[in-house]
Amino acid sequence: MSRRKENVSPEKWNDWNWQVENQIRTVEDLEEFLNLTDEQREEIKEVTKTYAWETTPYYASLMDPDDPNCPIRKQALPSKEELYDPVGVQDPLKESEHQPVKGIVRVYPDRVAFTISNKCAMLCRHCFRKEYVNMPHTFVSHEDVMNAVQWIKETPEIRDVLLTGGDPFLNDTEWLEEIIAPIREIKHVEVIRIGSRTPCTMPQRITPELVNMLKKYHPLWVNVHFNHPKEVTEDAKRACGMLADAGIPLGNQCVLMKGINDDAKTQMELVHKLVEMRVRPYYLLQCQILHGTAHFRTPIETGIDIIYNLQGWTSGFCIPTFLLDTPYGKCPMFPQRIVNRDTYSVSLKNFKGQIWTEPNPMPGYDYPKQK
Ligand code: SF4
Repeated sequence: MSRRKENVSPEKWNDWNWQVENQIRTVEDLEEFLNLTDEQREEIKEVTKTYAWETTPYYASLMDPDDPNCPIRKQALPSKEELYDPVGVQDPLKESEHQPVKGIVRVYPDRVAFTISNKCAMLCRHCFRKEYVNMPHTFVSHEDVMNAVQWIKETPEIRDVLLTGGDPFLNDTEWLEEIIAPIREIKHVEVIRIGSRTPCTMPQRITPELVNMLKKYHPLWVNVHFNHPKEVTEDAKRACGMLADAGIPLGNQCVLMKGINDDAKTQMELVHKLVEMRVRPYYLLQCQILHGTAHFRTPIETGIDIIYNLQGWTSGFCIPTFLLDTPYGKCPMFPQRIVNRDTYSVSLKNFKGQIWTEPNPMPGYDYPKQK
């Protein structure tokens, strides 16, 4: 049975359930989309013994059939480099140490991440929950969810709940509403956020039924996850447009990865495409010391330099915050613009390298006399 768009009816192709039911998990299925060499076939099969993979027909349709360095392929398909990672660990954020109740991760006083699905449209090679996503033993039961909702209800400091997974949008709309509605009723929960990669990897999931349900529960925000401009397709634009039209603010979390998006030109193109579809670039995340990802990691300087090279050359709201997520919380890292500083002045370098010195109006500063 073919999974290529041109061989499938539009009704099936645009049905997210069809995309999930027809996820690609074998080299044989993949060969409908790509021209693989014997070596590439063997490589995928070999790595699959250690790390699972799967993707949607939609995401596979974005892959370059001949180029192994295609950024879409690199995010979705196993590579032998995953097997050589001397320092990567399974749980770099030590999430298991921050769980007051099953399904809740609490690192900050006022907000929590709440895992409501173990399913994703694809298994991203850089995923820091790769031991969790689409694994039978991590199934999230109705009881797990309701216990966690009760915990939020009994914890008045929590004002912001991030629904995560896996991918929350892999739940059907009815079940998703059964989770969101009681959270919305909790007086101290001011904001509900949802993190989903489906607008990128399976935009068919964003249906009128879904957005009509979500917009009943404002203030509700959605964070999406695009890593490369090639992912910003007409389908992705339609999906993000539907969410934005429902009054949902959208932010993007991008993971910085060597050979995929570790240069200012690619990031510039990505942020411009995101903003065009009403998605605010929110975070650029340093790749974690996560097992199987050594080949993606870049020096910290790479991310800082990218932000430096975006500043001034594009609008401020196009520029994400570069940060490292740690077991102690997220730590932003900024390029240095201050070239000199004393008590009463600060000198700054602008995007063209010009230096400007500004008085620093500390108490006791003696302003020059007005003429
Ligand atoms: S969509 Fe997110 S949670 Fe799911 S596999 Fe990709 S990175 Fe992991």
